[in-house]
Amino acid sequence: MFGDFVFTKRIDLTTVNILFNFKRYSTRDFRSDYTLTKNIYYKEWFKDQNVPTEIREDVKLAQFYELVFKREIYQKIRAGEKLKISYHQFKKISAKLLAEFIFYVLRQSEFKRVIEGRDKIIVNVSVMEGTEEGTYAEMIEGDSDFQRISLDVSGAWLLGRICLPWMFLKKIDSAFLLKTISHELQHYLELTRGIYQKEYTAIQKISKFMRVNPKKIGALPVVYEILCNLYTEGIAVFQEKRYARYIKFDLNKIELIRREIEVISVMKDKRRAQERYERVFPDSESGEYYLGFMMCFCIGLSLAQKENAILSILAPRKETIPYAELNSYILQNRNFVAAQLSPNIFVKTYTKLSAITTFQKFVNEYLHSCRELGLEQPVQFIDKKWITKIIRNTKRAGK
Ligand SMILES: [Zn+2]
Repeated sequence: MFGDFVFTKRIDLTTVNILFNFKRYSTRDFRSDYTLTKNIYYKEWFKDQNVPTEIREDVKLAQFYELVFKREIYQKIRAGEKLKISYHQFKKISAKLLAEFIFYVLRQSEFKRVIEGRDKIIVNVSVMEGTEEGTYAEMIEGDSDFQRISLDVSGAWLLGRICLPWMFLKKIDSAFLLKTISHELQHYLELTRGIYQKEYTAIQKISKFMRVNPKKIGALPVVYEILCNLYTEGIAVFQEKRYARYIKFDLNKIELIRREIEVISVMKDKRRAQERYERVFPDSESGEYYLGFMMCFCIGLSLAQKENAILSILAPRKETIPYAELNSYILQNRNFVAAQLSPNIFVKTYTKLSAITTFQKFVNEYLHSCRELGLEQPVQFIDKKWITKIIRNTKRAGK
């Protein structure tokens, strides 16, 4: 049996089994994450006083991992409540709550496709030690199929985002949870639609070739992955921002990302290209995640324009602008905050995006939307010429 804990529920015609496995998260891992967590409170406690070096290091690490431990929890601790929890309690509480949350997300209309047409679906949740920055949960493609979703989740994340908030506040960080789970389920939908197979087997092919001709290949696999991610990660970030109220538009960031991709594309050494890529684009607010998301958002704006929806800017000044002025507005302001699409337009955009089957079609849809909105370079930040150029760069660099 896979799981230490099993939860079963029927959703429509499908039986959903959620199984938890803590094999890769030992009591020791738990204790160390727990100490890390506790030290966060020390930081609050001592504020500007002398914090022991080892604790300071822990606090830095936790900030790096974005493990947020709510202020209210700290206040309770200060008021004398003990931050005491056993490994067993931790497992029980976090498995139960995460399972409830996954059931909840699967009942939402946009994720009905995850269960549709299946008598039974199994969700295998494997709890892991360690956290990569920005990665709290990951859908494991190689271990997922039409009837099985494999998720790796970080134990520290369960502790900080689910277990402790529940113990102390009787609530969980549901916005953050929704973001993470819906992002990964979006990838699962892409997997079952065959997006990963088509686009990503090409990377494997390139990588194989690379092993045979290591000198020749340069940054091609890295660049190819960036391009594939534009669509798959772009739509996943779009999905996770569904309930966001505002969208940050940042032309400087977009241009910086473009330049970085160009720099990576001419690198001769694949390994160093990969390292640079991981260093300059650390999370889902950067790199091709952000570019891909902005492409999705532009496609949404063009649908909003068709529906005569109001285009609201929230900052630096609150105002509404006509779509015809969007291009010049972006050029003048470069960095601003726009209102999220209305729920109705969001669903329409998402439906449209979900019907796209290849990266090429995604780019075409984006370019079409830019034309409709009157967006020109550099506001229209991706086109076929640029894509051809960066792919060609990798080939030149390899010679
Ligand atoms: Zn992703």
